[in-house]
Amino acid sequence: MASFDPDRISLPDGHYIHGRLVPGTGALAVSRPSDGKVYAMLPAADAGCVDEAVDSARRAFTHSDWARRPPRERARAMRRWADLIEADIDDLAALESLGSTRPIDQARAWDVPYTAEGIRFFAEFADKCGGEVAATASDHLGMQIAEPLGVVGAIAPWNFPLSMTCWKVAPALAAGNTVVLKPSELTPFSAVRLAALAVEAGIPPGVFNVIQGSGPVAGEALCRHPGVAKVTFTGSTETGRTIMRACAETGPKPVTLELGGKSPQLVFADVPDLDRTAQTLAAAITGNAGQVCVAGSRLLVERPLLAPLVERLQQRFASLEPGLTWHSGTRFSPLISAVQAERVETIVSRAREAGAELLAGGTRFETDRGGCFYRPTILQVETSDNPAVREEIFGPVLTIQAFDDEEEALGLAEHEVYGLAAGVHTADLGRALRAVRRLSAGTVWVNRYGRSHDYILPTGGYKRSGIGRDLGRAAFEANLHHKSVLIDLTP
Ligand code: NAD
Repeated sequence: MASFDPDRISLPDGHYIHGRLVPGTGALAVSRPSDGKVYAMLPAADAGCVDEAVDSARRAFTHSDWARRPPRERARAMRRWADLIEADIDDLAALESLGSTRPIDQARAWDVPYTAEGIRFFAEFADKCGGEVAATASDHLGMQIAEPLGVVGAIAPWNFPLSMTCWKVAPALAAGNTVVLKPSELTPFSAVRLAALAVEAGIPPGVFNVIQGSGPVAGEALCRHPGVAKVTFTGSTETGRTIMRACAETGPKPVTLELGGKSPQLVFADVPDLDRTAQTLAAAITGNAGQVCVAGSRLLVERPLLAPLVERLQQRFASLEPGLTWHSGTRFSPLISAVQAERVETIVSRAREAGAELLAGGTRFETDRGGCFYRPTILQVETSDNPAVREEIFGPVLTIQAFDDEEEALGLAEHEVYGLAAGVHTADLGRALRAVRRLSAGTVWVNRYGRSHDYILPTGGYKRSGIGRDLGRAAFEANLHHKSVLIDLTP
């Protein structure tokens, strides 16, 4: 399937609790980023609704066999779930694309298959957590047993609704937990479809519940709920702080926080193929219109390359045309909302007032269709105290700073707040590895940028970019208790 008609998509518009769609009172208007049209009224969970969902998850944890069934069986159900997701690609990709910034071609080629693969990846861990003999002595035997935590509260952002849901939910379920997820109120529906497919795959009702609503009401009530054992969150650093506070005041409960970033890209003059490097750099800031936590938003370039690289980036940026997310062929995404567009505009104008020179973009695309599309933008800055260098913009805005040697580059790369990701582009392996060791970043890409299906590698932040890790074994382990057992062996 290619393009689809956005007015003909049937929406699962309710909460999804204990295996059924629960209608709620519509309170929040949800609009399509591509044209700004309000297409649904979102039910907004209050504390009572959150209670109901947590109670459902609690019952499923205690009374269904999910936590206790043989782990191979749990894995098999999750693999069936992944198969159903792939089989549902037409509807799921359309649902994802309709109300988010994800163009339909990308939702089909990436978001849906990536989500299914993520579920399969974590399913494989289910029977690999049996515990171990931890200590032996002549008079006793020690064992370490892994056990699920209970009900995991998951809170997701809007930028990749399906895959962020997978990152949060799949490791929790594989470990035998049950989940209450609150998707972003801006992109609420594909998660409901995912939860319904889980039940169809044989995952018991109540194991994966979805509540809709705003962050400060539904999200906060979920974090503060006494029945929630752990909270896993992806979103902004500011919200992460609020969530941690709520979890501290009502627990303390463990948290996994995947937060904001302001990731540098270091480009040295020895890169062998500047066209290819320019292509990588452009994709790293224009993909999803820069609304990516690991967007490569701070370009640091060795001075001799400044002019030729800027020229190549200008050409690439100029070739991007806005399009409706439901049209096949659309490559460049809208910004999620008018509020986000104003935020991008404000930071760009503050950056220019502070001395940044505009080398590309700097305005919205004029369209007669509604929606907010911002031109890919380059700002050349002299000093790192410019607001465009310091603040996460979450739009297609790239800052450029020139450096004269490796030491200066590494100094500029360091951000006072964020440490999510970084890119190093050089033909010199020694230099690349020196940079890898020095950079404060949870992920460092060398001569490439961006994730493919490498789930085994954890993702997360240094500094204020997060606590804990999604993906990899670390994400699975973070959903378990480790119980120690000591058995007396004396006759
Ligand atoms: P956000 O923090 O505004 O919202 C994220 C989620 O938190 C939403 O579901 C929202 O409803 C909820 N929320 C808001 N206030 C809350 C509260 N008081 N209590 C509980 N929940 C609350 O973030 P966003 O705008 O949806 O997403 C963009 C941000 O996410 C960016 O900062 C981006 O860098 C970050 N992000 C990080 C990663 C990562 O892996 N590190 C991945 C994607 C996005």
